[in-house]
Amino acid sequence: MRQSMTLIPTLREVPADADIKSHQLLLRAGFIRQTASGVYTYMPLAKRTLDKIERIIREEMDNAGAAELLMPALQPAELWQESGRWYTYGDELMRMHDRHGRDFALGATHEEVITSIVNDDVPSYKRLPLTLYQIQTKFRDEKRPRFGLLRGREFIMKDAYSFHTSAESLDDVYNKMYKAYMNIFTRCGLDFRAVLADSGAIGGKDTQEFMVLSEIGEDTIAYSDSSDYAANIEMAECVIEYVRPAEEEKELEKIATPNQKTIAEVSSFFNVEPQNCIKSLVFKIDDEPVMILVRGDHDVNDIKVKNVLNAKTVELCDQKETEEILGCPTGSLGPSGLEGKIKVYADYAVKALVNAVCGANEDGFHFVNVNPGRDFEVENYADFRFIMEGDPSPDGNGTIRFARGIEVGHIFKLGTRYSEAMDANYLDENGRAQHYIMGCYGIGVSRTLSAIAEQFNDENGLVWPTNIAPYHVHVIPVNMKDQDQVSLAEELYELCKTNRYDVLLDDRSERPGVKFKDSDLIGLPIRVTIGKRASEGIVEVKVRKTGESFEVDKAELLPLIN
Ligand code: ATP
Ligand code: MG
Ligand code: MG
Ligand code: MG
Repeated sequence: MRQSMTLIPTLREVPADADIKSHQLLLRAGFIRQTASGVYTYMPLAKRTLDKIERIIREEMDNAGAAELLMPALQPAELWQESGRWYTYGDELMRMHDRHGRDFALGATHEEVITSIVNDDVPSYKRLPLTLYQIQTKFRDEKRPRFGLLRGREFIMKDAYSFHTSAESLDDVYNKMYKAYMNIFTRCGLDFRAVLADSGAIGGKDTQEFMVLSEIGEDTIAYSDSSDYAANIEMAECVIEYVRPAEEEKELEKIATPNQKTIAEVSSFFNVEPQNCIKSLVFKIDDEPVMILVRGDHDVNDIKVKNVLNAKTVELCDQKETEEILGCPTGSLGPSGLEGKIKVYADYAVKALVNAVCGANEDGFHFVNVNPGRDFEVENYADFRFIMEGDPSPDGNGTIRFARGIEVGHIFKLGTRYSEAMDANYLDENGRAQHYIMGCYGIGVSRTLSAIAEQFNDENGLVWPTNIAPYHVHVIPVNMKDQDQVSLAEELYELCKTNRYDVLLDDRSERPGVKFKDSDLIGLPIRVTIGKRASEGIVEVKVRKTGESFEVDKAELLPLIN
């Protein structure tokens, strides 16, 4: 491709409100443009990298015995009503209606559609197991879209679904998918780990996530320093939500008096969003005051109490102490209903938080990202063990360390969750109707692109691994007015193409400085600079990753490119 014929709108300035490397660099290198909050255009370079990631995914999926199809993004509400998710998915599901007033959703995921298709077209055990996948746009109205492609509201996902007659068959395909995912992320060049999802608390053997290791990751991983053990400790981060009736909210505004701190003041003290500060409990975690939010709105996302598990002590403050911390009478901002103090030590921290808040106010609370509150009876959490940094690894090998991760993939044994809800059946050998046993397997394709950009960059720009670089070779004639340079550049450009290398030719009449800066920013693996020695057939080859460069005769170029 000639640079004059494509669109790579590079930027010199770091764009405002892009605060992580990958987001900044993908914008600056002209890979993406924001069309709306959490909605992006993939510009020509990003499209090529996406295609390469998708090609790797397709190869591995096909190898694992999955067949590709393409389901609609526009889905009738009836399907979501059958599964029940119409009522439970919440605001993240993009809902709409057609001109006849019929309800629809834009696919956040496709369990419902695929289950209905398979139910209609796979009536017999003879066609099972069956694994189908697609690569498609998904829609989720995320509360806080951010970090560019990492958390979008429209994004590309590979999702696969498998159907079985037995748990053993599901295990088998699940394991194949696991291997395929290991291959995919390895081929993308990523530094990643497969982790037990939902933490060690439920064993996690029926669901695993693939985490790209990165400081900016939103998940915390507990891993062993000397074995493969790794788990997502999502549960360490605790969000407590209280859905306040609208009338109560109005009352609250009324009682805000001048001698109370305003909600905004309190929220800035604790560094949380104002609208969430409507009701709360104040704790001291290792003597550091922390507000546990009892939220006043439905938008549950990720206000989290960080590092609860790392704490030595967690104390619930009583009204007096809360007032001291806030420096004002608490009124509705103080602890509600729970007098006295609870003091706990490290491994019971989460449990105590759960306890304290339940004690404080029975009705209207529930827990998000706290598995015991969400997935189990709260009373049962005594059975769970919370993992901490420095603990011996649960598999008996080594010590637990914590790291941050970006979830790029997730595999899940669904069992009969959807087939039962939607009454989807096949006939077994004896002609009896049985629910399909299912698995589902997702990869964030656009998120993977960002995760790669996050892991592969330096102070000058992106540094693409060869497998997924938009082009392999960047051919740069320094001076477009120099005929020797131009014709050698054309010759080498053609040479690369005939030898099936993806090659980008910078045929713009820009100053050399601009060309080199752009080239570093875009980050193709190999740069071939054609300058002063063009007439002798000598060019400079530079490896983006290492920075090493050497002059070579044009005849020696090809063997060097690999
Ligand atoms: P997260 O915990 O980050 O919200 P999730 O667990 O909700 O992700 P899944 O339902 O497991 O996501 O979807 C499968 C994959 O889709 C995820 O592993 C992730 O890579 C990707 N994904 C999910 N949400 C987004 C998003 N908002 N933007 C980009 N990719 C996403
Ligand atoms: Mg999510
Ligand atoms: Mg997740
Ligand atoms: Mg997930």
